[in-house]
Amino acid sequence: MNTPATQPIEREFVHGSTEPTLDVPELPPGDVESSESSRSARAERMRAGLAAWKEAGGSRGAPKDPIEKLAENPKSLRLAITAMCWHCQNGDADPAPKWRVGNCLCVSCPLHAVRPYQQMSGRPEPAVLRS
Ligand code: SF4
Repeated sequence: MNTPATQPIEREFVHGSTEPTLDVPELPPGDVESSESSRSARAERMRAGLAAWKEAGGSRGAPKDPIEKLAENPKSLRLAITAMCWHCQNGDADPAPKWRVGNCLCVSCPLHAVRPYQQMSGRPEPAVLRS
């Protein structure tokens, strides 16, 4: 591998003297070009991957609810807690289930401190729940 030539950078100090402080590698002219070609090669690989994915069906399907996600990974405590809260709040049978879980008022529930969607706590009630 070629080590690029270095070029000292001089910095002027307050008292007016200059002193070389850093040796910064001088980029050979081909380097910018090669990084651009590497970027375009990566973009091309991504385009090819996307095309292959679309050709194979192209969709991940409908989003899964927490209970379906738990079924795929039944040993996950995080997914189990999320699924429990989802179930407790009646899932998506009622509108805004994430808001309802995040704003759950049952502080005596052992899962309250670890319930999901806490970022929605304190947000205004969605309009669909106000009617
Ligand atoms: S924290 Fe709230 S939503 Fe979750 S299980 Fe307990 S009562 Fe239900």
